[in-house]
Amino acid sequence: MSRVQRLLDAVRKLHEATPELQAYAPWPDDLSDQQVIPRPCPVAQTLGDRKLPGTRATRGVIQALRAATPDLEWRQTYTEAEVGTEFLETYGYVEVFGPSGHFRSRKLRGYIGFWGPGLTYDWHAHEAEELYFTLSGSAVFCARGAPNAMIRPGQARAHTSFQPHLMVTLDQPYLAYAIWRGTGMEGLPAMVAS
Ligand code: ZN
Repeated sequence: MSRVQRLLDAVRKLHEATPELQAYAPWPDDLSDQQVIPRPCPVAQTLGDRKLPGTRATRGVIQALRAATPDLEWRQTYTEAEVGTEFLETYGYVEVFGPSGHFRSRKLRGYIGFWGPGLTYDWHAHEAEELYFTLSGSAVFCARGAPNAMIRPGQARAHTSFQPHLMVTLDQPYLAYAIWRGTGMEGLPAMVAS
């Protein structure tokens, strides 16, 4: 089994064992292998040194992510003008499965995203509905029309279609598994005015 396949397997185990994730969207049954060229990003190169304690339930995904990192296509879909240099140095994400992920699915898109400590991921929005599930670290989430909330490992936060949201990471790196469902699943988030 490849390291990327092991990562998918760890994500599937977590997803299937977490009622909140399964209730939001069942694990996709249409996954197929897809050729994706690995691509590093600054944060991926430092992942081995980062403390990512997680929880008993999320540790399997964290370990599989560390192991698979050299084989993963790390993405950054914002420009320096949009988010600044520091953000680009300490943020990156991988589409594990989805329309353009390591494994193809047309039913659900699943990412793992990393943000360094003390970062503000400014107001943004996207068409697809989203559920964040914290793997390690904590972040404060703000969303238009919803109370602010601190989301800890093992906790989830949902965003509706086009609902503007913002995230602030605390004193530890923040690692999350995010799923997108519904219309606009193949799209990208875009910064919006607060
Ligand atoms: Zn989002």
